[in-house]
Amino acid sequence: MRLDPMTTGCERAGDGEKRGEDPPFRGGFGWKEWLDGALGLLYPSVCQICQREFASAGEGYVGRECWRGLRFIQPPYCDRCGLPYAGEITHEFECSNCHQRRLYFQTARAVVVAAGVARDVLHGYKYRRALWFEPFLSRLLIDFAVPHLKGTGFDLLVPVPLHAVKQREREFNQAERLARKLGTALGIPVRTDLLRRLHPTRSQTRLSRTERAENVDHAFIGCENRELTGQRVILVDDVLTTGATASACAGVLLKMGATEVSVWTVARGI
Ligand SMILES: [Zn+2]
Ligand SMILES: [Zn+2]
Repeated sequence: MRLDPMTTGCERAGDGEKRGEDPPFRGGFGWKEWLDGALGLLYPSVCQICQREFASAGEGYVGRECWRGLRFIQPPYCDRCGLPYAGEITHEFECSNCHQRRLYFQTARAVVVAAGVARDVLHGYKYRRALWFEPFLSRLLIDFAVPHLKGTGFDLLVPVPLHAVKQREREFNQAERLARKLGTALGIPVRTDLLRRLHPTRSQTRLSRTERAENVDHAFIGCENRELTGQRVILVDDVLTTGATASACAGVLLKMGATEVSVWTVARGI
């Protein structure tokens, strides 16, 4: 499968718009059939999670049964970070995590819980380069986010950048690829020329909440001569865990003049 050319952050302005030309996911011009046809020659139509059911390329090789195993995040949840809350809440509510620390994003929303099928797909996509899962992930994000975001006046999308070394190893930035699909669906430009990741931060997986926050503090900078005065930004990542990474990026974007940063991810830890 084709990969976009490697990007290292701080590119020329406008690169985002140029490459954000993938066909929209919900189109009526036969892209799915084309994709199925092209990939069907290479891969059998089998669910790549359970190996036991039919799944097409257009479905990202995730079958119906596995799809039913997803845990969609439903209200009520924390107004700030989107953490689901068990119980009846009729008033505005901020969870204790958000209460205890300064978060720079206004809201964070995710589609599914990062567990089970969602976690397996994200791991395969990111760490094993299983790009055939991408239609599944982008469809989840688009179907959930577009109804919330369409017509709400956001100006641009910014993917959470990878460090250049990590991106060279991985050959793609999953957040950027998902942001491009969402940008096309929303008709909003994607900017990869604004944020840069300074350190190849340690893997977050085994770190505590405090360690994660320290790990990403000062990990991002704004690219020179970029300003975002008055802009409302959608920050995109594949998964949100503690929110530390998203908050660090949002802090930089606010310093660059953005008035609001809203974070959208496919999955989140709970
Ligand atoms: Zn399956
Ligand atoms: Zn919260």
